[in-house]
Amino acid sequence: MSKNQYAVIGLGRFGTSIARRLHEAGQEVLGIDINEESVENAEPYVTDSAIADASEEKALASLGIRNFDCVIVAIGDDIQSSILTAMLLKNLGIKKIIAKATSKRHGQVLETIGVHWIIYPERDMGERVANQLLSPNMLNYIELSKDYNIEEVILPKKMAGKNLRQLDIRARFKVSVIAILRNDEIIISPSPEELLQMGDILVAIGNRNDLAKFASLD
Ligand code: ADP
Repeated sequence: MSKNQYAVIGLGRFGTSIARRLHEAGQEVLGIDINEESVENAEPYVTDSAIADASEEKALASLGIRNFDCVIVAIGDDIQSSILTAMLLKNLGIKKIIAKATSKRHGQVLETIGVHWIIYPERDMGERVANQLLSPNMLNYIELSKDYNIEEVILPKKMAGKNLRQLDIRARFKVSVIAILRNDEIIISPSPEELLQMGDILVAIGNRNDLAKFASLD
């Protein structure tokens, strides 16, 4: 994996968990917070840290924020600070800005500023939980559009020992299997003759309702 430089602004629960995961994955992470205690708590999980008010242009400039590949604005309830910080980052020409929104209106403002990825933690997590309940065999998913997903689905037990042609998944469930994950192996565009094994994970593309049915088979 290539090494990127990330800056996380706002080291509450959300910002710290992003910083921690990136740091664990060997990425360079600068953690910034206006509050000294928040910075101290996050120190084990970042490469570097700074106490600074990110809504101040001078503070951001002195941290060399321009040089970062991706900046995450994880400021929570202080909407004014979140918006000012996002604006400054945009003006500095940061290539990838990610920001947390606490309400729909907050998100709309961030979108107008040109933030590249807006996250609504509670709403997004709620959707993930509901999707998991609707599709118990689903491990992970990517939303391609409002209606279409790519999902990783554990092979239903009764399909083990059969091949894709026999199972006729595309016609019966209206989903297409684009890859199979088997132990450490990945079989891309599997042949119709590929014999499926217990424990296989199917990577399937399709309408999310069709995928939900497929991922709830016994
Ligand atoms: P969470 O729900 O993720 O815990 P919080 O609202 O508790 O979110 O955390 C947001 C963090 O952002 C806090 O630690 C706060 O000190 C920090 N923060 C708020 N305003 C600024 C700012 N202008 N510059 C830097 N950090 C800020």
